This record gives sequence, structure tokens and C-alpha cells, in this order.
Amino acid sequence: MLKCTKCIYKQNVPGNTHIACTRGSARAFNVNEHGVEKGWFLFPYLFDPIWAEGCYGFVSKDEKSLESMTTEELGEVLKTELIAVNIVLRNENEPLRVREAILKKYAKAVEAIPAGKNNASTIVLINELRKI
Ligand code: SF4
Repeated sequence: MLKCTKCIYKQNVPGNTHIACTRGSARAFNVNEHGVEKGWFLFPYLFDPIWAEGCYGFVSKDEKSLESMTTEELGEVLKTELIAVNIVLRNENEPLRVREAILKKYAKAVEAIPAGKNNASTIVLINELRKI
């Protein structure tokens, strides 16, 4: 089951018990076809989270603000986002050269993290990735 109730991207749909997701790059995986066929999983616009096992895109409502994280914590978040976006782009059959260009940009940032000198730029990158 998706953890949408704990995710910052969950959106209630007025007059409906099903929900919507506002994250552009959210991709559910291990989706139950029965739920899809019955119209209970019109992802991401109107769905019941019970019909999928997980999602690339989850960000916990309990996550500390990025500004209050240490360099190491920001590094972990950045790596997680990078992996999620890579998976999404691969699933979308994005041309390899497009994926490579995007991943190269962010991989450089991940390499630079141990230097720990620029949390602000890491936050910018995380926010960029979360908009993909
Ligand atoms: S990003 Fe994933 S976990 Fe979060 S609301 Fe959207 S579908 Fe649910």
C-alpha cells in the first residue's frame, strides 16, 4: 500500500474518498491490475493507495526541513531523489542521452557533498529534482 497519507504530495479530492498526487514524477510500482480495471486506481488523479505497493516520489510529512539538515543528511536525500528520478526516467523510456545529461549534472553534485561547503546549493538541487 502506498504511504500517501504520510506524504507531502497527497491531495484530497473534494467529495471523494480517493485521493490525488501532486508530484509530477511520482510513479507507483507493483500496481494491482484488478484495481486499475475497476477504475479504483486512476493514478495520479484519483486513486485508492491500497492498489499499489510503493511509489518513487514519497517524501514524508515528518521530514525535517532541508534547511535544518546536516550536510550528510542532505547528501542522503539528494542521493535518494537522484535514484528515484533515474528510475522514473528509465521507466518513461527517456532517451539515454537525455537521462545521461540529467544524471551527470546531479552526480557531480553528489560527488561534491563530502566537501560540505555548500548546503544551499544541495537544497536547490533537491528541490529541482522534486519538481521533475
Ligand atoms: S508521491 Fe507517491 S506516496 Fe506521495 S502522494 Fe504521490 S503517490 Fe502517494
